[in-house]
Amino acid sequence: MDADVIVIGAGLAGLQCARHLTRAGLTVRVLEASDAVGGRVRTDLVDGFRCDRGFQVLNPAYPAVKQDVDIRALRMRSLGRGVAVREQDGLTVLADPTRHPSFAVQTLRGPYVRSGELRELAAWAVPALGPVKWLLAAPDSTLAESLDAAGLDGPLRTLLERFITGVVLEDEGSTSAAFVRLLVRSFAFGAPGVPEEGMGALPAQLATTLARPVELGRRVTSVAPAGGGWAVEADDGALLTAPAAVVAADPVSAAHLTDEPAPDMKGCVTWWFAADEPPTDLPFLFLDATRAGPVVNTAVMSNAAPSYAPAGRHLVQATALLPAATRASATVPSEADVRIHLSAIYGRDTTGWEVVTVHRVERALPVQSPPLQVRQRVHLGNGLYVAGDHRDTASIQGAMVSGRRAARAVLRRLRPR
Ligand SMILES: Cc1cc2nc3c(=O)[nH]c(=O)nc-3n(C[C@H](O)[C@H](O)[C@H](O)COP(=O)(O)OP(=O)(O)OC[C@H]3O[C@@H](n4cnc5c(N)ncnc54)[C@H](O)[C@@H]3O)c2cc1C
Repeated sequence: MDADVIVIGAGLAGLQCARHLTRAGLTVRVLEASDAVGGRVRTDLVDGFRCDRGFQVLNPAYPAVKQDVDIRALRMRSLGRGVAVREQDGLTVLADPTRHPSFAVQTLRGPYVRSGELRELAAWAVPALGPVKWLLAAPDSTLAESLDAAGLDGPLRTLLERFITGVVLEDEGSTSAAFVRLLVRSFAFGAPGVPEEGMGALPAQLATTLARPVELGRRVTSVAPAGGGWAVEADDGALLTAPAAVVAADPVSAAHLTDEPAPDMKGCVTWWFAADEPPTDLPFLFLDATRAGPVVNTAVMSNAAPSYAPAGRHLVQATALLPAATRASATVPSEADVRIHLSAIYGRDTTGWEVVTVHRVERALPVQSPPLQVRQRVHLGNGLYVAGDHRDTASIQGAMVSGRRAARAVLRRLRPR
């Protein structure tokens, strides 16, 4: 046999799984199809700009991150604890007054705090702040149904929905309310940000703890039982065997390699623009409550993380949803529409901004409909395992947890004592 365990895929789930197995003393080989580790969490360096492959943030409050990531070494740059919201009649900043006291008056006098929905919002949010066990045990519904049930129907609901749309990548409110509450919990307890060197620094850190480098450019084409273990074949002709194999590929590839069903996936597209002048000095995420265009959120990344742009330049991200395969009537947003929408959001001319790159991610997140099913089966039988965000929650936390769970399940089989 070539190793104790072969891990297929070096995204966060595969890396987490491999490092826990390595730590337990097993020999592990990790085969990765692409040219670097990270999977959906990668950063491209383009002309000195750091462009993550689709805008995303790391929340230091995720339990798996707290447990397994040296967050200090990532030198996190926070997007602040607040949002700037484009209204019909101007821009409103809503920020945590304890962190951003200069916005306290604007926040407290703004339309959201005054909307009379605070009690309803609190009722909706209470389960998010209590024990996770209770949250997961309670009946689940869609986000829209849960907001209706809480009686939220004014500006605060619009704001919450606009914010969550950019996180769950759908705007119909069809995502599990329990999942959204888990996300809200992590936002309540942590200030999301990006590592100084880009989101790719997270998987890069996890990879440094492996005993053997990840084998890049090896796309696995089949995983089949062989001699009491598993034979893993790659497209370069390599054929490796091991008593256990962990399929930590993305959800759709994992379904091809196993008999598990593939979940539906949601997509997004992020434009990265270079600007000579920043359209704002704020590090916050910008949302548009008027829904005047396709952008679900935008931010001047270099305000939060100056390392994202070369000296004297500024980097703006703008993210829009990709239409679901089931919504044939929806169109993919055009760059012209995005520029017009950004002009409206920031109140600035964007025609001089240069496109640094565009990341179109068709399979960004697995759909998470109610009832939320966390901790899905990772052992498919006879030493074949599966890991990935589709086994837990569609997030960095979910991917990391599933990798660790798969590692524990492997250890129970290979190292029962
Ligand atoms: C644009 C975007 C924004 C996001 N924003 C956030 C956010 O703000 N916060 C958050 O918590 N989460 C966010 N997420 C979700 C999070 O990034 C993912 O849930 C997580 O990275 C999934 O990790 P994974 O290891 O399960 O899968 P993946 O990252 O998909 O890793 C799978 C790996 O397997 C490899 N592979 C596939 N097939 C094969 C094969 N046949 N052989 C060998 N290797 C193979 C792939 O190349 C890949 O490296 C976002 C995701 C995207 C795309």
